[in-house]
Amino acid sequence: MQLRYSFRVYPSAGQRTALARAFGCARVVFNDALRVRETARSAGLPFVASGELSKRLTASKKTPERAWLGEVSSVVLQQSLRDLDTAYRNFFDGLKGKRPRMGAPRFKSRKDTRQAIRFTANAGWKITAGRKLRLPKVGDVSVKWSRSLPHVPSTVTVIKDSAGRYFASFVVETEPEALPATDAAVGIDLGLTHFAILSDGTKIDSPRFLRRAEKKLKKAQQDLSRKAKGSNNRAKARIRVARAHARTADARREFHHQLSTRLIRENQAVAVEDLAVKGLARTRLAKSVHDAGWSAFTAMLAYKAALYGRAFHRIKRFEPTSQVCSACGVKDGPKPLHVRVWTCRACGTVLDRDINAAINVAKAAGLAVTACGARVRPGLIPAQREETGTHPKPQPVTTGRQTGISALQGGEDVKVCR
Ligand SMILES: [Zn+2]
Repeated sequence: MQLRYSFRVYPSAGQRTALARAFGCARVVFNDALRVRETARSAGLPFVASGELSKRLTASKKTPERAWLGEVSSVVLQQSLRDLDTAYRNFFDGLKGKRPRMGAPRFKSRKDTRQAIRFTANAGWKITAGRKLRLPKVGDVSVKWSRSLPHVPSTVTVIKDSAGRYFASFVVETEPEALPATDAAVGIDLGLTHFAILSDGTKIDSPRFLRRAEKKLKKAQQDLSRKAKGSNNRAKARIRVARAHARTADARREFHHQLSTRLIRENQAVAVEDLAVKGLARTRLAKSVHDAGWSAFTAMLAYKAALYGRAFHRIKRFEPTSQVCSACGVKDGPKPLHVRVWTCRACGTVLDRDINAAINVAKAAGLAVTACGARVRPGLIPAQREETGTHPKPQPVTTGRQTGISALQGGEDVKVCR
């Protein structure tokens, strides 16, 4: 199984210049190739094959207009062509319904917030005896090794984010290691009122450190909107917004890691609703705001399940999870979103909308969970406002015994390569 490990790197001024050059060249190669394909398409000509693009790249390096492409590692440029191929493949697969639909590949801009280049094994990059990252035509870059790599990685991606920070991201082949078996299973409903609702009745909100980061981001954005266009203060405010964005993304990832690790450790099987399907039931706005976070979270659940010998189920079929009574299975018809608690007309059970949905997700995946969590005890129906305060918050995982999993903690980005 392939996992990704990210580390902060600190290039010197000269190395930053070399990296900027490499980012620029990779972008130009990507855009040139995209233009070739788009021109062919609008002329009604067949799709230009990758081999042909590669040949054109080699030829263009001999022209005066593109001679400077020779100043960066040729592997970086070839990988940029691969990225374009991936973008096209995803786009075509979306059209064929193999994955969620997405837009056609777009031209990259030097103003893009995230710049990245990739070195494969044949680029001749390496980790030096002095624990530096040697990149061809860049130099030996300092790395903050926040933990050790389990194996020698085959590729490294160097990233500059919107906040101006640099990262090295390695792909490492990792052997799965099963955790001790447990009987527990859980269904998860990813909701709008809470981040997630579990079939055992737990309602999980974003932790305080994430809410605080989001609040700071919002404030930074408001400050920016008040600054006069073109002013120095506006430029400074824009950097503050970018930093706040980066910190919010880090905090969110940290929360996703903590929660997914906890769920995988505590349960033998985990079920969630497929987001493409779930999206059908929601409005555009809610979708855009939440889908990115949810898909990152479910991707973590999927790879951690594979890594630690747990079952992960995605409910593919559209199940009206909020309409079916989890106690007797009778479909009670659609409920407006403001209805948080309802009484089943068939069996009389008083049901919490979200927990009921989470139980139905678990049941649709064939998991054995107790249905009592959905029942609202008479006289204990909490008011909506107080609800958020009275339910348990996700706790950071502190047990050190599962070294494999605790290795996935920390602020590092670890995810499955696609
Ligand atoms: Zn019922």
